Amino acid sequence: MYNSTERVKNISYAIRDVVIFAQQLEKEGKEIIYLNIGDPCLWDFDTPDHIKNAIAEAVTNGRFNRYVDSKGLPELRERIIERERKINNINLTTDDVVITSGVTEGLQMLFAAIINPGDEVLVSKPTYPPFIALCKFFDGVPVYYDKTYDNGWIPDIDYLEKAISEKTTAIVIVNPNNPTGAVYDEKTLKQIVDICAENDIIIICDEIYDQYIFDGKHVGISSIAKDTSVIVLNGFSKAYLVPGWRLGYLYTYDPEEKLSQLREDVEKQARLRLCANAPAQKAAVVALRGPQDHLKKINKHLRERRDIVYNRFEEMTEIHANKPRGSFYIFPKVVNLHSRWKDDEEFVKDLLRETGVLVVHGSGFGMARGSGLFRLVYLAPSEILEDSMDRLENFMKSGP
Ligand code: PLP
Repeated sequence: MYNSTERVKNISYAIRDVVIFAQQLEKEGKEIIYLNIGDPCLWDFDTPDHIKNAIAEAVTNGRFNRYVDSKGLPELRERIIERERKINNINLTTDDVVITSGVTEGLQMLFAAIINPGDEVLVSKPTYPPFIALCKFFDGVPVYYDKTYDNGWIPDIDYLEKAISEKTTAIVIVNPNNPTGAVYDEKTLKQIVDICAENDIIIICDEIYDQYIFDGKHVGISSIAKDTSVIVLNGFSKAYLVPGWRLGYLYTYDPEEKLSQLREDVEKQARLRLCANAPAQKAAVVALRGPQDHLKKINKHLRERRDIVYNRFEEMTEIHANKPRGSFYIFPKVVNLHSRWKDDEEFVKDLLRETGVLVVHGSGFGMARGSGLFRLVYLAPSEILEDSMDRLENFMKSGP
């Protein structure tokens, strides 16, 4: 007789859960515009040819169809060190870097190592949902630090300080942010680093969107951490358009020399799952070494698409939004949610049923159900975004 464990019962992932409802409607013949998932390859962005050719070559010559080093190919770790030196002006060694099956696996390994039952992990609100689910999976307690709509979704430092307790073990920062599109300023990041250093809290920063910035510049946490140790997660899914390859990395920047045991505990887990995708690692060497022109092109398109959706929201009285500065998400707010809908999920389902446009309810990212927030992914081509915004606008006007 099978009974679900409590651990598994807790798992939910709103971004993919809403798809089940959309697929039902699709079966009934409704056309759906999927603005719910952050996968650039679903639209008109494609993996650069030299990266595709590199994985084909790695597979056909056969030398990379084997298991490789659990920590990752040394030559890939070397390229990552170079990248981090160039971008964040830090000096790492290959021992500081572990190649993972995506940022997601890196996070799992870190949480498995860091969290004892009942330990608290600070996660922002709103947050990328797996941070909450994985924290609970390892018997940890996610504790929110607020980012507020009113100051552009930048973390509120007073709130963050108040959220710290004796059980706080780690903090997760996502910069540039999913789901808000916020890019944190240097001052805020420094304040967070200082508070965490004072309270001996492990800092984990997910920088998977660091190449997608439309206004200003991205400040990598390791570039400003100075004598504070930090852990950074990054990956190839978004910047190199290979989300299906499942390839990422984590590195420890450890001037305080306090993360050596954690490094060992992560490596132990890396050995347990043998290795990350070997041909993809070989191709990732080419991705990091080769031309980066695709990033310029994508950023140009994303800025245009960001402007389309943001400007349309600016014209609406029923929905407001902060202007995203990075990533490819916008997190708008329905002003008078309760005049028409019970909660944000009902709004999302109603919108889907009436217009075919699929977005994700804000409560899937940790917000209150009544807050009226939702996430829209603006990766689709301009004409599809314009059409979706027309549908959304008409839908909002059609109410009682
Ligand atoms: N981290 C953030 C903030 C994300 O938004 C995503 C995917 O949308 C991931 C991690 C997943 O990364 P990966 O594909 O490397 O597992």
